Amino acid sequence: MRADDLPLSNSFAALPADFYTRLMPTPLAAPYLVAASASAAALVGLTPAQLAEPELVDLFAGNRVAVRSQPLSAVYSGHQFGVWAGQLGDGRAILLGELNGPHGPLELQLKGAGMTPYSRMGDGRAVLRSSIREFLCSEAMAALRIPTTRALCIMGADQAIMRETVESAAVVTRMAPSFVRFGSFEHWYHRDKPEQLQQLADYVIATFYPELTAEANPYTALLAEVTRRTARMIAHWQAVGFMHGVMNTDNMSILGLTLDYGPFGFMEAFDPGHICNHTDQQGRYTYANQPQVGHWNCYALGQALMPLIGDVDAAQQALALYQTEFAATLDYLLHAKLGLQTVQDGDQALLAALFELMTASHVDFTNFFRALGNFQSTAASDTVLRDMFIERTQFDDWAARYRARLQAEHSNDARRKEAMDAVNPKYVLRNYLAQVAIDKAVASDYSEVARLLAILERPFDEQPEHAAYAALPPDWAHDLEVSCSS
Ligand code: AMP
Ligand code: MG
Repeated sequence: MRADDLPLSNSFAALPADFYTRLMPTPLAAPYLVAASASAAALVGLTPAQLAEPELVDLFAGNRVAVRSQPLSAVYSGHQFGVWAGQLGDGRAILLGELNGPHGPLELQLKGAGMTPYSRMGDGRAVLRSSIREFLCSEAMAALRIPTTRALCIMGADQAIMRETVESAAVVTRMAPSFVRFGSFEHWYHRDKPEQLQQLADYVIATFYPELTAEANPYTALLAEVTRRTARMIAHWQAVGFMHGVMNTDNMSILGLTLDYGPFGFMEAFDPGHICNHTDQQGRYTYANQPQVGHWNCYALGQALMPLIGDVDAAQQALALYQTEFAATLDYLLHAKLGLQTVQDGDQALLAALFELMTASHVDFTNFFRALGNFQSTAASDTVLRDMFIERTQFDDWAARYRARLQAEHSNDARRKEAMDAVNPKYVLRNYLAQVAIDKAVASDYSEVARLLAILERPFDEQPEHAAYAALPPDWAHDLEVSCSS
């Protein structure tokens, strides 16, 4: 595959020059392929074999620029941990352009390909460790059917990068229809530049939300639609126990995609107050806080769009969609997780009681819901489930309520298990699984990254040969810490 044959275009580059800086990626010495996602590659008409060819290794390491590429880094601003942070921007991301695929155009973006005018104190690089985490989690989330940016491949190099210790460099290529963030809009609002604000909004609407152009005020409609998508995305996060870790407005996608995988985590021992990001000392982004932070972020977007919306009541109405959309989506997802096919009085109380019990016993989130698929609606309590709880008699009480609830809708155990197994994953990207793959990759063995990817691409399948990957974290994993911007 010749890099110059890639039919790249770049719609973002058609925006005026103050939206970005055109620049070249910085080469890495002797890059090599670490991992590739076949399903992501298929979205842009590529194969893993092509990604292993020298020209594409160079391309996705930032060592070569394709003729049709117009590489650029975008400017944006944002609220970080609730505080206005001013200008940020793609400090280590470079957009190469977009490729067409069976589901439409996808932008390809290098992350870690060198300094940009927005690098601030950073070195423009990403380490192998964080690149593997982003790569695996992007693809795992897609397989969980959660809206997300994708990851095409990781290119590595033996170049030393200074973090808390010396690590090696990598570049992960991400894909999404757009990487525009809430912070891209906040940037122009806070600079008092209504013309650019409108140019950006018009670009986003025309390119990604064309159906909104017919609305009375397309900007209000944009806020409403982004609010709904964000609410739905976060409901999906809650339902699978995903914690983003850095829900700053510069990490919120205007398309409602999970964006910027850093110190994320999947809930293991259930604790609504769990903080997955070591940097988040106040616990702003705990599991329990994610829904309201998502709403707060939509307010920040609404504020930025006010010069275009013009009417405070209209903006408030759009933002009010958040609660209803979030509640409806989460309710739907939780009913499915419990295998309930109808909505009945008392369902909310049944769910609340369950989460209270799970909290008290620190039950493993993923394994509990997976095991619940085996619950018998006629027999006595299931011992596997019961043994997950410290207060077993309290679980027995809950199980009796659940059993009665199932009987009330004449639930069929076999069919319910099949439906529950299709929504309650057996395999998620536990931190320790990522760490094992990272440790091997650091020793130049990339086989575990590939194996983990293959398992996480089928999260709902039993895969008995891989049952060990559903195991609780080992003792050493309790000391694992992940923090911002590595
Ligand atoms: P994050 O917390 O990863 O979303 O990053 C926040 C901001 O810091 C973004 O503008 C990033 O582009 C920038 N950034 C993070 N790490 C680096 C780095 N190593 N070099 C340059 N910029 C960075
Ligand atoms: Mg970011």
